[in-house]
Amino acid sequence: MGGMRFPTLALGLVALAALPALLVTQIQNGSLSAAASKQKDAEKAPAKAAKKAAARKAPSKVAKPKPTPAKELFGAATAPAPLASRSIGFYAKGCLAGASALPVDGPAWQAMRLSRNRNWGHPDLVALVEKLAVEAKAHDGWPGLLVGDLSQPRGGPMLTGHASHQVGLDADVWFTPMPDRTLTHKEREDLSATSMLADDNVSVNPTVWTEAHVRLLKRAAGYEAVERVLVHPAIKKAVCDASKAEKDRDWLSKIRPYWGHYYHFHIRMACPKGSTSCAGQPSVDDDNDGCGAELARWLKLVKPKPAPPVALAPKPATPAPERRYLTLDQLPAECRTVLASGTPAAPPPTSPPAPDKAAAAPSAGAIGKAAAPEPAPKPAAAPAPPAASAKQAKPAPAKPAAKPAAKKASLAE
Ligand SMILES: [Zn+2]
Repeated sequence: MGGMRFPTLALGLVALAALPALLVTQIQNGSLSAAASKQKDAEKAPAKAAKKAAARKAPSKVAKPKPTPAKELFGAATAPAPLASRSIGFYAKGCLAGASALPVDGPAWQAMRLSRNRNWGHPDLVALVEKLAVEAKAHDGWPGLLVGDLSQPRGGPMLTGHASHQVGLDADVWFTPMPDRTLTHKEREDLSATSMLADDNVSVNPTVWTEAHVRLLKRAAGYEAVERVLVHPAIKKAVCDASKAEKDRDWLSKIRPYWGHYYHFHIRMACPKGSTSCAGQPSVDDDNDGCGAELARWLKLVKPKPAPPVALAPKPATPAPERRYLTLDQLPAECRTVLASGTPAAPPPTSPPAPDKAAAAPSAGAIGKAAAPEPAPKPAAAPAPPAASAKQAKPAPAKPAAKPAAKKASLAE
């Protein structure tokens, strides 16, 4: 027995002796660094928390006053800037001079949500929406367009809703066909758009989705001036499925899958000629119809996740991060002129919104929380917007785990 015990003890001692060396090696390799840094964080935590608390208290007393959000300035403008028509800046960071209004009624369209005063656009966009309405009615069996938001009279950021629609080149069109009568002002406020999605969230609902929807989208994407048409991935799939025999696939490339966009589709025009300060997006890759692997990735993203088998303890509520907003200084310099031209300067931020905007504008207290006026809820984590940067002609749904900046994610709204 004694003879047996000795080697065991010796081995144990050797192992013990080796342990510190092993630890050192592991630390050097970084395998324990996580634990080490956790400890460091724990040491820092009280200081961090104190700092955070101070930062929360500070702004009203110590920090200099925050600049007025540009959305308050542009949201208060009730008429267009009487300047030559041009789109200034980027879809999600710019403004609009010399806007035209889409008439609230036309031969083949009706503008919705009139209280928002967002039926303004670059004249080219207004002409395009009118043309789409008339041609779709004449050729596609589409009864007419219900038109959602274009831009504010001077473009710019909005108090509620979209991050884009700032330069007068974005338009939302409802998937709901226009009824066969003129809607009242109240109906245009209250009528709900129809979701095109089936319960599975990855296909369209055959009781509301029609071949005419495909023809309408094809017509919109077929215009040369249109660079992108944003739709929900399930709708992109429906369009792909309906177009398998199509030889011309360039228009399909322009139909881009994106979050939301199942109550309406979003038309985005390229920068018009003459808008020299307009910053466009790279064109889509017209060699890729977007019906393959890319669409499959998007469909995975929007497929509802199965509920976890065991009820998990609710996470402690974390305070929502403060929404960042654009200031006038961050917009192109010309936007100052756009804001100041013609009509008296916009009221100071403390003033109540102009009467005709009251229905659309949130109270001063709600500013920054930005209640979304659109029926489509946005998921918290969104992949990069389609082809938002020069290097990607495709959206990047491949990395759903990465949370891009909210600003980028909402580019396409
Ligand atoms: Zn839109």
